[in-house]
Amino acid sequence: MTVSDFSGFGFCRRILRALEDERYHTPTPVQARAIPYLLDGEDLLGLAQTGTGKTAAFTLPLIENLISHGGKPSPNAMRALILVPTRELALQVADSIKTYGRHVRLRHTVIMGGVSQRAQVNAMRRGTDILIATTGRLLDLVNQGHVRLDTCEYLVLDEADRMLDMGFIRDVRKIVAMLPRERQTALFSATMPKEIGQLASEVLDQPRRVEVASKTVAVDRIDQCVHHLDTAQKRERLVELLAPEDVSRVIVFTRTKRGADNVAKRLNREGINVDAIHGNKSQNARQRALQGFRSGSIRVLVATDIAARGIDVDGISHVINFELPHEPESYVHRIGRTARAGADGIAISFCDASERSQLRAIERLIKHPLRVVGDGPVGDERPRPANNQRRGGPKRHSPRPAKRRRTRRPGRQAA
Ligand code: AMP
Repeated sequence: MTVSDFSGFGFCRRILRALEDERYHTPTPVQARAIPYLLDGEDLLGLAQTGTGKTAAFTLPLIENLISHGGKPSPNAMRALILVPTRELALQVADSIKTYGRHVRLRHTVIMGGVSQRAQVNAMRRGTDILIATTGRLLDLVNQGHVRLDTCEYLVLDEADRMLDMGFIRDVRKIVAMLPRERQTALFSATMPKEIGQLASEVLDQPRRVEVASKTVAVDRIDQCVHHLDTAQKRERLVELLAPEDVSRVIVFTRTKRGADNVAKRLNREGINVDAIHGNKSQNARQRALQGFRSGSIRVLVATDIAARGIDVDGISHVINFELPHEPESYVHRIGRTARAGADGIAISFCDASERSQLRAIERLIKHPLRVVGDGPVGDERPRPANNQRRGGPKRHSPRPAKRRRTRRPGRQAA
């Protein structure tokens, strides 16, 4: 049997109803491959980036396992822990759980920095089924005795490579050391640097490996081009590019927070509905910006790489790299914001004389040169009609057989 629609996995009715509400018909490749393993109680190493549907790939089986195994959380404890690198991602994962779990009775809680800890402490008193947390605040609350980790049965590490980039891996190790060894663990990462391979071998037990090539999910389906120009020309060119109406929902990436503010100010002066999102903004301001962007009242969001992690907004028409990232992988992360879940998108990069080596590194990574757009009036990078027509649901894939077995593997014994 192949799993070409969600009913093939053996999810309970209440989950299937939530998926129908969301109009998800076809599992994405990472879902088709990861869900059977996770339902089966196996550990999983998932190589997949944002935009592939990875959040549903781990939250759906988690919800199913929690309800089918039954049980209640102990006070101050959780049954499942999802660790994420950023606050935005924490809120987005929580949103997914709310969506997919809307017909089931599971409690979920978010613990993250940047907001008062009191509500989080209160929420944890009764215990929670699923805790979504950033590492720093979670460790604070554990150290203050407000949260216990010793009864957690499921662990997900999401965007592990970002946790590494942001210097959180030591915290992750501290947290994992406090968890029971008898648990099911899934680790997701877009890339697999040596340190993540090492971490995976420490936290996973005979994991199944599921890899979704980033080329097929993002790079190949995105129309990419580069403008070679002087630094001083960038702002004016950006304003030109944003003029057409069909450039409708755009993320502009800058390298620095100040750069993001400056670009946003300039666009604002041009009468463009714009907001900036970066680490110096309060949590509230970031949420406001994201909500405005989602609802369409803000057409252009200017973001730094870290702030943009996990931004999950559908229908992004263009990603514009005002400055190229230092790490070529960030380019793939950035442009993956457009072309979500199988739709096509457009990515335009600016490259000044100081950024040529970054451009070369990117082209090496994606294994082809970016199309160069000449000076003069812009037009080439406008959306192509064929692209628009092809927008829609995810591509069909070759799914794997579903395993219906629900028992967890015996295996790991507590040390
Ligand atoms: P993620 O990779 O988890 O950030 O998900 C990317 C986007 O794809 C999100 O907006 C999801 O709502 C959407 N999505 C996830 N799975 C599916 C699916 N099977 N069908 C359609 N959209 C999906």
